[in-house]
Formats: sequence, C-alpha cells, structure tokens
Amino acid sequence: MIKLSNPIIETEEIDAIVKVLKTKQLTQGPKVLELEREFAKIVGSRYAVATNSGTSALHTALFALGLGPGDEVITTPFTFVATANAILMTGARPVFVDIDKDTFNIDPTLIEEKITSKTKAILPVDLYGQPADYENINKIAKKYNLFVVEDAAQSIGARYFGKKTGSLADIACFSLYATKNIIAGEGGLITTNNHELDKSMRLFRSHGQDEKNKYNYLGLGYNYRMTDISAALAITQVKKLESLTDRRRVIAQMYDSEFSRVKGIITPKINKESSSVYHQYTIRILNGKRSKFKNYLMNCGIETMIYYPKALYSFEHLKFNYNPRDFVITERATNEVLSIPVHPLLTKEEIYYIIDKVKSYGK
Ligand SMILES: *Cc1c(COP(=O)(O)O)cnc(C)c1O
Repeated sequence: MIKLSNPIIETEEIDAIVKVLKTKQLTQGPKVLELEREFAKIVGSRYAVATNSGTSALHTALFALGLGPGDEVITTPFTFVATANAILMTGARPVFVDIDKDTFNIDPTLIEEKITSKTKAILPVDLYGQPADYENINKIAKKYNLFVVEDAAQSIGARYFGKKTGSLADIACFSLYATKNIIAGEGGLITTNNHELDKSMRLFRSHGQDEKNKYNYLGLGYNYRMTDISAALAITQVKKLESLTDRRRVIAQMYDSEFSRVKGIITPKINKESSSVYHQYTIRILNGKRSKFKNYLMNCGIETMIYYPKALYSFEHLKFNYNPRDFVITERATNEVLSIPVHPLLTKEEIYYIIDKVKSYGK
C-alpha cells in the first residue's frame, strides 16, 4: 500500500533523541528553547512558544487574547475539529463562514456580514498548506478592531506575498503531529511579535507559574509543555523543512501537469500571491464519483483520504444557529475532495504509478 503520509525518521532524528535521553532532561528544557529560537528565526517572528500539540497551541493563543463566554470567533467550518474546539474551550463560540471555491479557505468577502458586537477574533485556517487571504482578512480585522489568529497547522513553511505563515497575523499556531509536514510526534508551536502575548502564553503553558519564582501563580494555566525529547526531534526536522517542502512541490507539479486534462478531476488551485507547502494534494472528483474513485485507488494499493467528509457545523457540540444555505461551497467540498499521497518519501516509481492509475480511471 502506498501510504498517504510517511514520517521522515533518519539517523539524525534517532541520534538527537538518544542524546536527550542520555542527558536525562526529559521534560521542557534547553532543547525546547533551542527549537523556539530556531523556529522564530525561520518564520520571521519575534517570539515562538512550543506546546505539546497544535490543539494546545490554539487554546493557549486564544486564551492569551482574553477570549471567554459571550465572545465570538469567526472561522471556517471546513477544517479539523481542533480549530473550533479550541474556541469553545475558552468559553467563546465559533461563528462559521463559507469557504472560497478554489482554495477551500475562508472566504473574506463573507466575513463582514457575520461580525457582531460580540466578535473578538478571526481564525482562518491555511488548508492543505495554502495560506488564507490575509490581506483582505487583516483589512477587515483592522476595520473592526479584531484579532487574527492563523491556524497554520498545515502550512509550515508556506508564503503569502513573500512572507512566511506564522508572520501574517497577530498569532499563528502550528502542529508537529506525526502526519504533518514536519513532526515532533506530538507538538505545537505558536508565533507572535507581541511581547505581552508571548509572556501570557508562556504562563498559560505551565500552570500560570512564574518562570522565575516557582509556586507563584500569576493566573490560570495548564500543563501544555513540550518535552525535550520531542523538541530534539523537531529541531532535526526544522533543518529539513526546505528540502522536504521542495520535494512535495515537485511531486505536486508533476500531478498538476499530468492531471490537468483528466475529465472529472479538478487539480488544486494556488493563488498567485501564495506558495503552498502541499500538506495535502487534494483533488476534486466531480459527478458524484468520489467514493468509486477512492475505492478504485484503494484496490490499486493507493491510500487516499477525505479531508473533511463533514463540515464542523454538522456536529452537535458545534451546531449553533446557522443557515445551511450559507454553506453551499463547503457542502460541495465535503462531497468532492480527495487527498492523494504527496509525501517526500514517495519514490519515482510510486509517483508514476499513482499518475498512471489516476489517469487511466474511467478510460
Ligand atoms: C493537525 C491540525 C490541528 C491540531 O494539531 P494537533 O497537533 O493534532 O493537536 C489543528 N488544526 C488543523 C487545521 C490541523 O490540521
């Protein structure tokens, strides 16, 4: 079976972890600091805070903004559930906005009509590795005095008008989960240029505990710390980010040119101001043929996945007063999208095999 994702674990990764184990510094320590410094530099942000998952990164960011009951956060319903759960965990409510038909990211032209006196922030997601439309989103945020938090879990290394994700909003949250473009096993990173937010997020990550004065608690907090073991793994991965991303792009380009004329398949559209890191290479299968196509590829030994089969407003705990007519594009996407393998470990033979099988479907 050609897997949809395949983590890169080479001798550097193994050596880095063994080295940490030998120091017996298992919890948050110097490796976490090193990762934070390295990552802030790469992204072009002043601060980076490491957490133990992308979900805890989102929760930490939203808490630091002071969100709570009665507040609303505008976001996309076409994402992983953690995006909206993190909003709920602060006591605030997600307000969903439909997506753009080409990028699958939140449609900025539909945001303003959902803004109320309760709206405090906009939380766009860079789906499949392509940045959301931050120029227009930030414009709206400025006009209504809202925060923008980027869910960059899938877009590590991507650019928008030349700037890296992680530097496009007030705060950005990344995930280093095992299937993401670079990994820590479980892990998250938050970036910001705001000193106060950086300070609050560091507190929240560790029991609200004064870093210089232990057992002095300056506010509410969790244990969202990353271990030095995970950080050591992540540091080796960060060094490979460029080359791993390049590989994904090469494969995506091959798919683009090979699939562009295949009937019933729409290839991903990347806006000219953006560069995608192709966390997923997601095609649309038209005419209700997706499940047949997915089965066919499975029988060919090619793993595929539907990200995401249901919009978030379909779930009981996220079902607030919404009008299904507001989400025509999201509904269509949930019925058409299919992600095929694009990870950097695919061999040339596997890539050509996938191309051949996709092209010969329905012939
Ligand atoms: C993976 C992901 C998350 C959550 O990250 P974890 O590290 O798994 O907690 C949040 N949002 C999006 C869009 C993701 O893809």
